[in-house]
Amino acid sequence: MAEEVKVKKMKKTGKKVEKKPEYRDIGIDVKPPVRVCKDPDCPFHGTLPVRGQMFKGKIKSAKMNGSVVVELERLHYVKKYERYEKRFKRISAHLPDCMDVKQGDEVKIMECRPLSKTISFVVVEVNS
Ligand SMILES: [Zn+2]
Repeated sequence: MAEEVKVKKMKKTGKKVEKKPEYRDIGIDVKPPVRVCKDPDCPFHGTLPVRGQMFKGKIKSAKMNGSVVVELERLHYVKKYERYEKRFKRISAHLPDCMDVKQGDEVKIMECRPLSKTISFVVVEVNS
């Protein structure tokens, strides 16, 4: 108990007053986007909740408006040859207005509610 009180006091008397973040806390540990957008389906600036699975993948195609195709790579063990083979899976994901990607960028995608027939993932982090 005593320690908790101390921490709280220190925060209050800290030198810098924390700025209000321009994005929503989406509950996962990712870099928030620099730009602000008005996309209602943006997890940071809109109202889209994210839950479920998170994947890291590469942008396979960024030709669509507001969505991208992300390719996931995994290794599958082949017993007969005692080696691994690469296997791929493609997932369509929503791209919020505040993020820019090009083909080959590494992204993190997070599951969300179905946004269309084939899209139920949203891009939450871009490492270009
Ligand atoms: Zn946004």
